[in-house]
Amino acid sequence: KKIIVAIDGWSSCGKSTLARALAKQLGYIYVDSGAMYRAITLYFLREHIDWTNETLIPAALEDIELDFRPNENTGEIEIYLNDENVEYLIRDLIVAEKVSEIAAIKDVRAFAVEQQQKMGKKKGIVMDGRDIGTVVFPRAELKIFMTADNAVRVERRFKELVEKNPNISVEEVAENIQMRDYIDANREISPLRQAKDAIVLDNTNLTQDEQLKKALKLVKG
Ligand code: C5P
Repeated sequence: KKIIVAIDGWSSCGKSTLARALAKQLGYIYVDSGAMYRAITLYFLREHIDWTNETLIPAALEDIELDFRPNENTGEIEIYLNDENVEYLIRDLIVAEKVSEIAAIKDVRAFAVEQQQKMGKKKGIVMDGRDIGTVVFPRAELKIFMTADNAVRVERRFKELVEKNPNISVEEVAENIQMRDYIDANREISPLRQAKDAIVLDNTNLTQDEQLKKALKLVKG
């Protein structure tokens, strides 16, 4: 029987990497919910939307269409913003610096959550984010909450970002992770929480392969 797997946790814990691998292994759909908040953020930045003015949000959201499609070459699922592949652009630190602020806006969350729940109607889905086990799919059959030591998280994310931007500093990356975790855990709507029935996966000392094996075992029950 196909199930819903919800993977939540702190920033840069390797949620997406595990979720992607797990979905591939199971033949499930993979949805990176963070990519949706990042794409919305990219749109707001580009269009100079003043997101501190809540009255402007609904109209702005009406002009946003998000889509997940497989990459023609790699087959990896990537996000499209109004028919433009933005998978690469949304990983920028410029987006990361604003995304938590924008993800805390009520209408933005309602917009994203509605689409996420619709995607969950097809069972056989792995979705990762911050509120998947608590809000989006409170009845998910399997919930995993990921953590890792701070230093390990910073190092992993830094390695990713420095490839694109050689000028980036470890301090900047560390600060961004800390700031996002703080905003995500302290916002009013759907703050980042570990669901009561989530299984904690600390991957500080685990390879990607070991994490996948553990997750597969959990899926098989
Ligand atoms: O997962 P990722 O780090 O790409 O997510 C970027 C940001 O999007 C998070 O820091 C958080 O502010 C927001 N987010 C969220 N709820 C989710 C997924 C992401 O608020 N389910």
